[in-house]
Amino acid sequence: MDLLGGQVRSPGNHHHHHGLGGAVEEIDLEMGAAAGVVDDASFARAAFAVVSSSPEASANQQAMHHVLDGSPSSQELSAQLLSSDKPRKKKKVVKKWRDEWADTYKWACVQMVEGSSRIFCSVCKEYGRKHRRNPYGNEGSRNMQMSALEEHNNSLLHKEALRLQLASKDRGITLLERPIYIKALLSKSAESIIETVIRRDPHESEYIQAVQEIVHSLEPVLSKNIQYLHVLESLLEPERVIIFRVPWVDDKGEKHVNRGFRVQFNQALGPYKGGLRFHPSVNLSVLKFLGLEQTLKNALSTFSFGGAEGGSDFDPKGKSDTEVMRFCQSFMDELFHHIGPNQDTLTGDIGVGFRELGYLYGQYRRLTGEFECALVGGRNLLANSNLHAEAAGHGLVYYAKHVLADLNRDIKGLRLCLISGSGKLAMHVMEKLIAVGAVPVSLSDSKGFLLDDEGFDGSKAMFLKDMKSQQKPLREYTRRYVRAKYFDDARPWGEKCDLAFPCATQNELNHSDALAIISSGCHVIVEGSDMSCTAEAIDVLRKSKIIVAPSKAANAGGVAVSGLEMASKSNQMHWTGEEVDTKLQELMRDIYQKSVAAAAACGHSKDGPEALVHGANVAGFLRVAQAMLEQGCV
Ligand code: NAP
Repeated sequence: MDLLGGQVRSPGNHHHHHGLGGAVEEIDLEMGAAAGVVDDASFARAAFAVVSSSPEASANQQAMHHVLDGSPSSQELSAQLLSSDKPRKKKKVVKKWRDEWADTYKWACVQMVEGSSRIFCSVCKEYGRKHRRNPYGNEGSRNMQMSALEEHNNSLLHKEALRLQLASKDRGITLLERPIYIKALLSKSAESIIETVIRRDPHESEYIQAVQEIVHSLEPVLSKNIQYLHVLESLLEPERVIIFRVPWVDDKGEKHVNRGFRVQFNQALGPYKGGLRFHPSVNLSVLKFLGLEQTLKNALSTFSFGGAEGGSDFDPKGKSDTEVMRFCQSFMDELFHHIGPNQDTLTGDIGVGFRELGYLYGQYRRLTGEFECALVGGRNLLANSNLHAEAAGHGLVYYAKHVLADLNRDIKGLRLCLISGSGKLAMHVMEKLIAVGAVPVSLSDSKGFLLDDEGFDGSKAMFLKDMKSQQKPLREYTRRYVRAKYFDDARPWGEKCDLAFPCATQNELNHSDALAIISSGCHVIVEGSDMSCTAEAIDVLRKSKIIVAPSKAANAGGVAVSGLEMASKSNQMHWTGEEVDTKLQELMRDIYQKSVAAAAACGHSKDGPEALVHGANVAGFLRVAQAMLEQGCV
């Protein structure tokens, strides 16, 4: 858990939102009556939140008001606040102010008392002014309160309170794994959508992050067509969530219980299709965000699939084949009720590869007597069993080619391509980069990263694949290629690069990585892992005009090719590897063009840093939304 690091406030119209479990109270820190500081309109509506569920804090909560709340009292308060917030100086002042107090701001919270704002610590519920004498005998200026709060934040008292809060589970106060970063939105309706999601599931930080990004992109669409607002509200609630117990016995005869999930997110376009992830970090928030991303990703392809994601907090690492098999069988014992070729099909994701899909399929076939696959990419299933991950990886490089072509650059000959991860996706990205004449120089795993300045070539790639298939750590590479280096506990983003392909996991590129990548010379980030960048990182990258190719478009090759496979099976056709590759290239071009067109329709030119992100969100959403509208309220 990263509580103290990596949360530097960035200037602009975005707000950090620090949540502690329980009911959310949000208020704008900038709305107080301090002189000489003004806000822009979006800032005035954006929220800065603190949540408190301890009994002693409930009295405080009564006095705290929710700017976005519809209750009369808070509306009055909002009006009061807004009226006291007339522009007096330039925006710049606010930005500077926020920057100056970046570290303190993240712990600050505002309470309105008798019409004036008091800044207090969101952890200790202490007023800033308590720690510093105020010669005026009132709350003091905002600067005074913040400097008092800063003092407080550095105090042992605050540090101890924080420690206790973290240690205490039974006090009902739980800090979120990651604080939620609130984007300032333009419209009230968009805000209310986000607010509903946060109210319903305040702990689901990944899901909230994904929703915010999508809603942010959709604002121009929502403002033009009110019908879409209701569709979006409906879309953001998954159609079905299945949670089940997965008991299994290890090789020593010891019993274990894991939790299994399948989030069947949306099937307006067709049967659910989406990954399965086995990793200790799996929880509902992660799977809901993946399910939503998958829904829009599938909609971007020309095929008609709904979106889903599932998995378990089971860790296949360090387990024997028989343990993995027993786990997969137990997992399928429940899941088979809910899947099928016309219902829901499963593909691999983190921790679920060839071996796991094979065992899952075996049990599925045994239980159902069906040979038609409800799983994509396993043994026994399809002529080219590795196709899904391969197509996702190769498609990523094809997508990157289009982005570069529009910048008048060629991927061929690009010397420095950073890749993170060394799993199914990363290895296929590396392979394709080498094939198109670019030079990948890094890979990573959960322990650190590998850098080979001379670049990976075909024979090194073979060696790496061999190493990985024997489950050897990446560090082993440096024994054979001694000039390469392995860096412990680090990520590759600080290395010099032209192009970056994060291919490990969500939020693997944070605010400080973004700053590092900007100075590394990178121009384009092609997200391989779903939601590779944190919202803070996206903010920083946008300001530096680094283009972000969003995962839901760039890694959609996997789903596109499995659509192709299904089509070829039902037409009893057989395509060669080259034919599939040509079709994959066409599909990726199509996805790129759709995104660019949707972005242009919303006023973003294609070389804008976030145009592809907005374009993919809008194009994917419009296709699902159209189907949902046609199908009525179901
Ligand atoms: P994988 O084969 O299990 O590989 C995951 C890689 O990422 C491993 O190198 C792993 O390192 C690293 N990793 C995982 N969690 C990490 C963490 N918390 N911190 C640092 N490193 C971490 O999975 P994959 O199929 O390649 O998937 C990778 C990403 O691509 C995922 O985000 C997935 O959603 C996305 N994706 C995959 C496909 C596909 O078809 N497979 C398609 C589209 C998108 P260790 O080996 O040390 O754990």
